[in-house]
Order: sequence, then C-alpha cells, then structure tokens
Amino acid sequence: MMTTASNTAGDVDAASTAFLVFSDLDGTLLDHDSYSHAAAQPAIDLLDVLAIPLVFVSSKTRAEVVALRRRLANGHPFVVENGAAVFIPEGYFLAQPAGTVLRDGYWVRELAAPRARWVALLEQIAADFPGQFEYFARAGEAGIAAMTGLSEAKAALANAREYSEPVQWRGDRAGLDAFLAACAAGGARVSRGGRFYSLGGEADKGEALRWLRKQFAMARGIRHIKDLAAGDGANDVPMLESAETALLVRAPDRDLPPLQRAGGVLCSDAEGPAGWAEGVTQWLCEHGLVTQDS
Ligand SMILES: [Mg+2]
Repeated sequence: MMTTASNTAGDVDAASTAFLVFSDLDGTLLDHDSYSHAAAQPAIDLLDVLAIPLVFVSSKTRAEVVALRRRLANGHPFVVENGAAVFIPEGYFLAQPAGTVLRDGYWVRELAAPRARWVALLEQIAADFPGQFEYFARAGEAGIAAMTGLSEAKAALANAREYSEPVQWRGDRAGLDAFLAACAAGGARVSRGGRFYSLGGEADKGEALRWLRKQFAMARGIRHIKDLAAGDGANDVPMLESAETALLVRAPDRDLPPLQRAGGVLCSDAEGPAGWAEGVTQWLCEHGLVTQDS
C-alpha cells in the first residue's frame, strides 16, 4: 500500500479549517531505546508537504527540543517540560501573542514556576527518604548519563532545565506513596514519564495545547482547528484528552494509558515511531488529505 499526499482531495474547506499535530517525543516520535525517529520520517514528510505544523510537546528541555528541531528541520512552535512553557519562533505569527515575552528569539508563554522551587523542595525532604531517590540537580551530568544512558553531552542538555526537576525513584512502593505525598504537600505536581517522575508546577501538556491551538486559530482568523495529539505515557493524557483526535502510540514495555474520552481515539498497532507514522497517516486519510493507493 502506498500513500500519496494531496492538497486538493477530500471535502476540506481549506479557508475555514486548519490542521495541527501535537506530538510527544520519547517513545512516541522517538524510539524508546535508540531515540531514533527514522520510522516516523515518511509521515513527517507528509505533514511537511501538506504544510501541517508538527508541534513537539515534551518533558524534554528547551535545549533538547531545539537540538531535535534542528535535526528534523522543524521550524514550528514547541512545548517544553511537560507544558511548563510554550516557545514560538519570533515572527512565526503576524503579531506577538498576548501574554508572551520575547527571549532568545522566541515568544515565550510561561505556564509554571521555575526549577529552583522544585530543587529546593527535594533538598528539604531528602532526609526523610535516605537513598530512596535521586534527582538531576544532585546527580550532575555524569550521574544523569548513568541514569539515562545518554552521553554526557546529551546529559548536559537534559540538565539544562528551566521549569521542572526529574526524579528517579529507587525505594519501595510504600515509600513512593509517602514521597509523592510529600511532593504534593510542597506544592509540586508530579507527573510520570517513561523513565522518571517530574516535579513541576500546575501546568500540563493539555493546557499548553489548548493555549497554542487558540493562538493558531486567532493568527489564521479561523474558528475550527482539527488537531491530533500523539502520545504514549501518563503525562500525555491531558493533551490526549484536549485534542480533537487522540493517537495512542503503543509502547513495548507497558500498557497504553487509559483515557476518559469516548470517541476520537486512534490506537497504533506498531510501537513507537512506526506506530506514530501509522496513526498520523490514518488521521490524514480520514480527513481526505492523503489517499491510499494500492
Ligand atoms: Mg513518551
């Protein structure tokens, strides 16, 4: 089966509708183990041909996402650290969106408190959980490399955090419950990614998606955005619940996170980036944007 892109097929009124894709990275667009996006490339190319923005929505830092955008030649807005901030390249829209600040060539919308607040909280509760957890600020670059399997250079990127702090739990289940309660009591929201817990503010990927979708709609003078959100983890759920269509990308090591929504859910058969390509292509077909040629 071959898929071809078409700018004219289907019943879509281009003037009144815009399409957007929001995507998690680790385990979704990137392979869980190799971090390769190769299997997703055919569908990334389709989005490029159709001029559909691909927005990365990740627990990763700005430095990490910027490096990945460069590798994938992606020039679209992006969301870092589980929804803590939205970065829009300066000039991407005709006018600077309200509520953003200009920083390093981006219009930045901050939705959460800075990292220093969460590091201070972990320092404060460390004595109550001796040897039971480790976090990036204390582990340092070598420690982060050991925990993640990343090179030290990439560990440095991962450590360049601005809004959240990753924690690796090393204790038992009962201790974990007490630890999570202590974090919550300290005002932190704890989300679980593929490998780490992340302490951050009240923002989440869903809030970031809804804010950015509104900016696209206002900038293009349209009401109706048809968006797809793709993810594989519990931290993707707020985004998967917010988009018009959710794409659950299968993971090799665990079940798909449960969603509350009744309809508009695609589940991939393949895992990771291959599943991403499968789901994105299906979504494009359902909207008549590509046709399946046999
Ligand atoms: Mg993921």
